[in-house]
Amino acid sequence: MLYLDNSATTPILPEVKDKMITYLSEEYGNPSGKYYDLAINAEAAVKEARKQLSKLLNADEKEVIFTSGATESNNILLKGVAHYYSSQGKHIITSKAEHSAVLEVCEYLEENGFEVTYLDVDQFGRINSEELKNAIRQDTILVSIIWGNNELGSLNDIEAIAHVCEGKGVFLHTDATQVVGKIPLSWKDIKGLSFLSCSAHKMHGPKGVGALVIRKDRYGKLIPLTPLFHGGGQEEGIRSGTYSVHNIVGMGEAARIANNNLEKNTKHLTLLEDRLIEILTEKFSDNITFNSDRTNKIPGVINVRFIGLNNEVLLKKLSPIIAASTGSACSSAKPSHVLQAIGLDLKEVRESIRFSFSPYTNMEDVNIFKEL
Ligand code: PLP
Repeated sequence: MLYLDNSATTPILPEVKDKMITYLSEEYGNPSGKYYDLAINAEAAVKEARKQLSKLLNADEKEVIFTSGATESNNILLKGVAHYYSSQGKHIITSKAEHSAVLEVCEYLEENGFEVTYLDVDQFGRINSEELKNAIRQDTILVSIIWGNNELGSLNDIEAIAHVCEGKGVFLHTDATQVVGKIPLSWKDIKGLSFLSCSAHKMHGPKGVGALVIRKDRYGKLIPLTPLFHGGGQEEGIRSGTYSVHNIVGMGEAARIANNNLEKNTKHLTLLEDRLIEILTEKFSDNITFNSDRTNKIPGVINVRFIGLNNEVLLKKLSPIIAASTGSACSSAKPSHVLQAIGLDLKEVRESIRFSFSPYTNMEDVNIFKEL
């Protein structure tokens, strides 16, 4: 079976698994222990993983807060900022093409007295910086815009967006779950970006671990926010709870490997994508259209509309040989809000399929599409 649902999740790399097993077996210490080797070793492992992830992001190690994944990072951030800064304003801006882990939190905040503006997106799911600029108000406390869209692969221009937010003195958060480990990015160089969420399982690391990156303020302290969890005070008090050492170690190792192979992976993913587009175009000619853009995108993600075919029927038929999906794994039961936001009607949404490659997909395997 050819697995082409890597935007939903990726298999753990053998090197990652091997490292994790050590911390699931003999090295079982609690990093908060301090006085004996088991604890000291676990603490060192978490430190090393923080270093590896920081290197991939080009962030300061102190700015990285480990969480259980991007859903948690988004929740900590959106609710934490909303509560901490509510006396300054109750207006938040996001887009119509966000992941449900942002949109649902925004809806929850709306039910609790906050006002949310949902920016329109263009035909590929990107927001317009000018529209953002016009939407920012005196009482806006946060802007949250996805970096790479999980259904279409399109990239928002986070640098331009950060520039707008910096100019207006408003915090910017980005859900970078789909881009970390896939495109080169430098947190340090995007000063107007205050918060970033990411997850390990999208880059061949384990499920159940992610990070929230928080910018240090001018006094060297992390931008304050109200924590969701209260407890032992781990992770600067922002994310209390005993460290999931094996998962954190896995995330660090996955980040290290992704960082070392970024350029090579991008080249391979682009070739895979080009090849699939070529085969599909040859085979289906007038009966397909591409929902994804060809430029400014995450390499290896293609969203295709098979005109006149129902995506669920097609996916079930393909499933013994090709694993793909209709879009977001988290809300596949509902018709995609992202595809509706880019202007597709419900029929067109139900004809659309996302194919997402991994850097470890073999080029020869793509030929399977010729035999469909
Ligand atoms: N944000 C985006 C853009 C995603 O693609 C996903 C995963 O599908 C998430 C958030 C949720 O991440 P996690 O599974 O780590 O909670």
